[in-house]
Amino acid sequence: MSEQEYDVVVIGAGPAGYPAAIRAAQNGLSAACVDDWQNRDGTRSFGGTCLNAGCIPSKALLESSELYHRAHVEFSKHGIEVGSVAMDVAKMQARKGGIVSQLTGGIQALFKANGVSALQGRGRLLESNRVEVTADDGSTQIIRGKDVIIATGSVPIELSIAPFDDERIVDSWGALEFDAVPERLGVIGAGVIGLELGSVWQRLGADVVVLEALEEFLPTIDAQIAKDALRQFERQGLDIRLGAKVLEAKASAEDVDVRYEVGGEEHTAEFDKLIVCVGRRPYTDGLFGEGVELQVDERGMVMVDEQCRTSLPRVWAVGDVVRGPMLAHKGTEEGVMVADLIAGKFAEVNYEVIPSVIYTAPEIAWVGKTEAELEHDGVDYKVGTFSFAANGRAKGMEQAAGLVKLLSAASDDELLGVHIVGPVAGELIAEAVLAMEFSASGEDLQRTVHAHPTLSEAVHEAALAADKRAIHAINR
Ligand SMILES: Cc1cc2nc3c(=O)[nH]c(=O)nc-3n(C[C@H](O)[C@H](O)[C@H](O)COP(=O)(O)OP(=O)(O)OC[C@H]3O[C@@H](n4cnc5c(N)ncnc54)[C@H](O)[C@@H]3O)c2cc1C
Repeated sequence: MSEQEYDVVVIGAGPAGYPAAIRAAQNGLSAACVDDWQNRDGTRSFGGTCLNAGCIPSKALLESSELYHRAHVEFSKHGIEVGSVAMDVAKMQARKGGIVSQLTGGIQALFKANGVSALQGRGRLLESNRVEVTADDGSTQIIRGKDVIIATGSVPIELSIAPFDDERIVDSWGALEFDAVPERLGVIGAGVIGLELGSVWQRLGADVVVLEALEEFLPTIDAQIAKDALRQFERQGLDIRLGAKVLEAKASAEDVDVRYEVGGEEHTAEFDKLIVCVGRRPYTDGLFGEGVELQVDERGMVMVDEQCRTSLPRVWAVGDVVRGPMLAHKGTEEGVMVADLIAGKFAEVNYEVIPSVIYTAPEIAWVGKTEAELEHDGVDYKVGTFSFAANGRAKGMEQAAGLVKLLSAASDDELLGVHIVGPVAGELIAEAVLAMEFSASGEDLQRTVHAHPTLSEAVHEAALAADKRAIHAINR
């Protein structure tokens, strides 16, 4: 069998893999991208989890549910009476599907425009950088990459005590496909995905209970921000039960019965649907052919160095399949970095400055260190906070809750972390990311002119507050 040879072969066309293939082609290298994503209706599309079953569809539904909720509870505060507000879940889902297919189709077009060979099929890494590609009809071809990039992503973790049945007990993808609002919705896991999906369906009218085994809410984010967010979610009616360890979930034709334990005491709950969101695991199942001794850890995570080199020469790995936060933009930056390194260019990812966003309402966004991390590291720091309650734009938007918190070094004022809970926090954090990328100080933010009236003034005031110079707050 003749083997087509490329400069770069990428396995996986999610947000880590497809940008790697495109950048390789932009760098003048011949590139192929192999992907086996299959939609629920059997069709194939590029874009991986992010475009097909993650970031994009979840944000499309969050927007619809937010608008519905606001029409219900906020419009009348603005003096807008709309009478009864009706919901059409099928139409919401169709809108979401339209966005997904436009974007996934866009990747196909980008591959074509950049001359990337897009191959739909399952890739398996063989010895000597050869990749076997098995198509749907079972036919196989072997291609070879001078360099190979593994970008096979991650899959949801399944609990043996609550196995997915795709009907009543579902993973995050299943939760994005409901064709009606469940009356009683259970969510196992109060992490990013559980909160986002719980929010979507709660805003559309579901009674949502989130069961979280940990005692602390969002323990990895800044504690003050987590506390404020929890208070706001609870006020909205999201029932978050901390320290609730699920013992068993049993689905029947009518409902799902869940047994769980809090502080040694057993409880039960019945739901119409149960979403299990307890994390994702790197996906390398069946990826390596015989004799390929690429180093992975016990969870299947591919071991890489700072520049995403694996233990095998000229084999790289990027995105969810390697260490670091499972975030689309982190994977994209790694993919692009690797494609540039292969082309002999300088490239790096600044892992210290990767923003995270939870797209609930209000949104939660952060970058850099938390107060607890700075304390743990023995770093002296200054804190500035500013509440959206004192921000004119937030008030006009009827969203004057939450705060901006800024941490900078006591020694030289360098920004160390920015944490936000509030309206469009995911957009506001970009300023902090840029500032930190340029090693800006709190004073740099103080001296930067922010338009009035905007939400970004809250970031400005938080920077001022760190030096007790905030104008619209009492400095303590
Ligand atoms: C509900 C949900 C919401 C999310 N929201 C956000 C968000 O708002 N922001 C954010 O940054 N992140 C979000 N994420 C996480 C984000 O989706 C992932 O971090 C991102 O998709 C990882 O990109 P990746 O390219 O590494 O892997 P993936 O996107 O998982 O893509 C991997 C691709 O490789 C293919 N593949 C796997 N094995 C093979 C093989 N052997 N041969 C061929 N192809 C193979 C897969 O089919 C898939 O198409 C969300 C995730 C979920 C589930």
